[in-house]
Amino acid sequence: MNSIFKSIRWRLQVWHGLILLIVLTSFCITAYLLVRDNRVRRVDQRLQQHASALLDAMRPMEPIPGGPPPELQRPRGPGQDRPGPRGRRFGGDRPDPDGPGFRMLTPEHLGTALALLGEKIAADGMHFTVWGPDGTLLERSANAPESIPFPSEVLTETTPTLRTREGSREIVVANRRGFRVIVAQDMAPELAEVRLLAWRLGMTGLGVLLLGLACGWWMATRAIQPIAEISSTARKIAAGNLDERINVTGTDNEFSQLAQVLNTTFGRLQAAFARQAEFTADASHELRTPVSVVLSQTQMTLAKDRTPGEYRECIEACQRAAQRMRQLVESLLVLARLDSGEADAPREHCDLKRITSDSLDLLRPIATARQIALELDLLPAACLGDPGQLGQVATNLVSNAIHYNRPAGTVHVSVTTENQIVRLTVRDNGIGIAANDLPHIFDRFYRADKSRSRSAGHAGLGLAIAKAIVETHRGTLEVESELGRGSTFTVRLPRQAG
Ligand code: ADP
Repeated sequence: MNSIFKSIRWRLQVWHGLILLIVLTSFCITAYLLVRDNRVRRVDQRLQQHASALLDAMRPMEPIPGGPPPELQRPRGPGQDRPGPRGRRFGGDRPDPDGPGFRMLTPEHLGTALALLGEKIAADGMHFTVWGPDGTLLERSANAPESIPFPSEVLTETTPTLRTREGSREIVVANRRGFRVIVAQDMAPELAEVRLLAWRLGMTGLGVLLLGLACGWWMATRAIQPIAEISSTARKIAAGNLDERINVTGTDNEFSQLAQVLNTTFGRLQAAFARQAEFTADASHELRTPVSVVLSQTQMTLAKDRTPGEYRECIEACQRAAQRMRQLVESLLVLARLDSGEADAPREHCDLKRITSDSLDLLRPIATARQIALELDLLPAACLGDPGQLGQVATNLVSNAIHYNRPAGTVHVSVTTENQIVRLTVRDNGIGIAANDLPHIFDRFYRADKSRSRSAGHAGLGLAIAKAIVETHRGTLEVESELGRGSTFTVRLPRQAG
């Protein structure tokens, strides 16, 4: 049960069903109320018409020849051509037949008129009852029930009362003389029709709801189909099958875009795993060499008694191997710290000129030993950074320029500022780098000439470390090189204003 509510398909279905149910219910209720009110309104209109006709029939209809006696005539206003004020009353504007200018019809005339109207009213499915001012029942249509009580409430002709009583719709009216009339209609047949309509609306709504739910289920199933495919592929990849990819052919929607992003991510992850494995293999390989040196030297020396000189030689070889291992382990630690962001030391104001010249001071003896000329063009260049790390960058680049140079070669080092950047350039006219090696020289453990660098204790980590440091300083490290002609490495860092 719990898993049902975790399923997107079920959630979509439940929401869709709820919304559909609310819409359909509101529609059905509104339609039902509109129809019912419309029916009641129509009944009310007919009740009013009949009540008005009944009141008219009960009024004195014959005008007194010559008009009302002078004492009862009201004074006319200027421009008035009709006698007396006209009352606005239920049934419309007309001469006031209850007024003094008219006389009563005879009871016979009234009886005939009411009988005629009764037939008309009965034909409409209604009935009427008439009481005199004293409450005596005067007339009632043949189909009127006897149980209708005399309306004792205060009534005026201009305000008829419409009400529903015991399943009947009634209009209660009175004239000035106190005659009271009720015209009523039993609403049971009308309401039965409305209820039938409500039932039909309900059934149709239920049908539409079921159809909507079925369509919703089908659409939800289709919509989440790609998710099932994505999770199945992701499961295979998690199980170790890194070559798996999500099939994105034939669709171009949000899911296929997601699948493409995931495929790219899977590709990157696969490449990262491969690099990681390669890195571990390279690191092990690099460490194995000095360890083998230590083992073989010690085994060979211990195989028999040696002279002090031979022991010394062995210990010196072990020391060199240990130094090599320490260098390698330190490089690996630096890389690990840079990768984890641990090396993001608080930046301080530094001068790249000073940092570079400190590195050059360390390397000058090596350059002299190799007869490499150092040409310097160092200008003050303020930047924010870690002087130790930036010094390592300068040392790596200059030591490479010395190491991969030719006898009596030159290394040109310059520090300049340009707009918002400071630039360190190390240019040599040494052996250069082949075009096919250039894209890889910043990779870890990559050496263009393996035999040459390893013999000199180079592990292929110097440029990788330099690049990682420069990037943590939000800078760039670029290389231009031509085989046999030399290389130029350029570091660009954001300049520190002031
Ligand atoms: P290494 O410790 O082997 O010097 P680096 O990462 O510093 O490792 O350099 C990677 C490779 O790039 C080197 O093995 C070398 O082949 C090449 N390289 C680096 N600097 C230069 C240079 N100035 N001239 C020619 N080749 C270079």
